[in-house]
Amino acid sequence: MANPIRILSSHLINQIAAGEMVERPASVLKELIENSLDAGCTRITIDVEQGGVKRLRVRDDGCGIAPDELALALAPHATSKLARLADLDAVATLGFRGEALPSIASVSRLTLASRMRAAERDVGWEVAVGVDGQLVAPRPVAHPIGTSVDVRDLFFNTPARRKFLRTEKTELNHINQVFRRIALARPAIALQLTHNGRIVHDLVSAEGDRIMARLDSLLGQDFSGRSLAIDETALDLRLHGWVMRPAFSRSQADQQFFYVNARMVRDKLVSHAIRQAFSDVLHHARHPAYVLFLDIPARLVDVNVHPAKHEVRFRESRQVHDFIFRALHRRLAVGAELAGQPQLLPETLRDEPSLGARPGPARIPHRSGVRDDHGVYQADLAFQQPAEVLARAPEPAPPMREPGEIPPLGFALGQLNGVYLLAQASDGLILVDIHAAHERIGYERLKHAWHDGQVLSQPLLVPLRVHVSPNEAELLAEHQEHLARLGLRIDRIDAGSLVVREVPAMLRHADIERLARDVLADLAEHGGSARVEEAINGVLATMACHGAVRANRRLTLDEMNALLRDMEKTERIDQCNHGRPTWIKLTHAELDRLFSRGR
Ligand code: ADP
Ligand code: MG
Repeated sequence: MANPIRILSSHLINQIAAGEMVERPASVLKELIENSLDAGCTRITIDVEQGGVKRLRVRDDGCGIAPDELALALAPHATSKLARLADLDAVATLGFRGEALPSIASVSRLTLASRMRAAERDVGWEVAVGVDGQLVAPRPVAHPIGTSVDVRDLFFNTPARRKFLRTEKTELNHINQVFRRIALARPAIALQLTHNGRIVHDLVSAEGDRIMARLDSLLGQDFSGRSLAIDETALDLRLHGWVMRPAFSRSQADQQFFYVNARMVRDKLVSHAIRQAFSDVLHHARHPAYVLFLDIPARLVDVNVHPAKHEVRFRESRQVHDFIFRALHRRLAVGAELAGQPQLLPETLRDEPSLGARPGPARIPHRSGVRDDHGVYQADLAFQQPAEVLARAPEPAPPMREPGEIPPLGFALGQLNGVYLLAQASDGLILVDIHAAHERIGYERLKHAWHDGQVLSQPLLVPLRVHVSPNEAELLAEHQEHLARLGLRIDRIDAGSLVVREVPAMLRHADIERLARDVLADLAEHGGSARVEEAINGVLATMACHGAVRANRRLTLDEMNALLRDMEKTERIDQCNHGRPTWIKLTHAELDRLFSRGR
């Protein structure tokens, strides 16, 4: 029994459109703020009651709306931002679909009031929308220059939608998130947010150095101190902003702000590029934090993909992906502290050998010798044996240093608890997590060796049989060749067992069975869908971990100094493969503070 076909009323059309665009109070806020920004405002005031469900009002000092256009602004598909199809190819405004105001008005009690900038109009005008969607005739009101949109009782007429709203606190969180996105992208705009009459944020217009203060107030006090600034340009692409140093990664993906031409987006391609840039310095269960802006010619990006415009489409997606990846990867490789030049050895230190400092680095061997009388060291310090990988894999030349100059990580004083290395640098005390640092050094060297096809392998005198699951045996068959290139020759015997025949020479003293198992577990995790490169990096990291110095191994001062020098030459040394810091510095000032000196 078919119903007759009819054309929907515009009120109903708006309500349907609202389904796509207005999910919750925060989505209303996003649309209203974007309109204010498009109107060229310098200040936005947002007042929210009961998580925005009861009331959400946005006021700006932008260009305003002409009295005779107020009603039009609330009509569907009415916009001042787009006239021709061609304009879509280079949209410079945040809005352009003319859908937001009518959609919001169809699911709330909305009042729109505005006064234009032009001096002769000294009075504002207001229109309200009735319950049936009909406009109440415009009337003059007292209003400063700019526009106010007052949205009350969201979803009062769409109970199904209302049911999806969460607690006041949750809705406020979403509002806060939208507020942060805009506030981070537009530091020059003064922004105030109140909730139930209390001020939540009050941000003044910020420029230059003051921008960091705004970042801190939105992302936590230490963001500026813990982040790396980035600004890279290639052809007509520019990536700038800040990434949190990997050591301060987060357990949630709650501080990831990415903007394409100042529009906040969540884009799979972008996330993948960022994730990949961090993959080397971050444990996969941790999340990077960043505020990044991609500037790209408008013709190379399509923003008309999603009603709320959360997504974009890049015309040259591969190029954009690689650009973001490379820019970040390079920035993360340099790290924060070691990028600086070595400092001069202060007078006091030069004359005090008792502190453990070695005046003149010439006395410190470039690499430590390996002590045969302690079998364990041999395996542990395998990464430092020139005969194997190192002689073949060229390294960056050590930085030139004047005699008497103190290197960035200083000179070793001793070892603490078998775990930490203490060193004296020119401006404070350095603490190194020996295992973590060694792991990173080994990982980077393995990567170099792997890329150059120069991992040396060594046959086992007695091949080692390892029992595995059929799934693991299958994985092995798939990756056998790559593992062979890593110096790990493993054959499958049957569905449930493997035999290890050769291992990388540098790992000949490691626990081979555990190594094989870990490598397979690694392939199981990264393998499958991930690209070979990522899987291999996982395997290299596992191998590096097996080769690195375990806790409670005693190192000589020479070995410690060699480790410090190796650290200074290693990319991404600031954090281990899992993103934990490998070293920290207590500056003289911090030490003085700890002892309340100099107050
Ligand atoms: P869009 O932003 O896609 O054009 P909207 O429904 O959000 O569609 O707004 C419709 C029109 O109303 C806008 O094109 C603009 O001309 C006007 N408008 C809305 N909000 C403001 C504001 N805060 N200041 C000035 N004009 C506004
Ligand atoms: Mg809009």
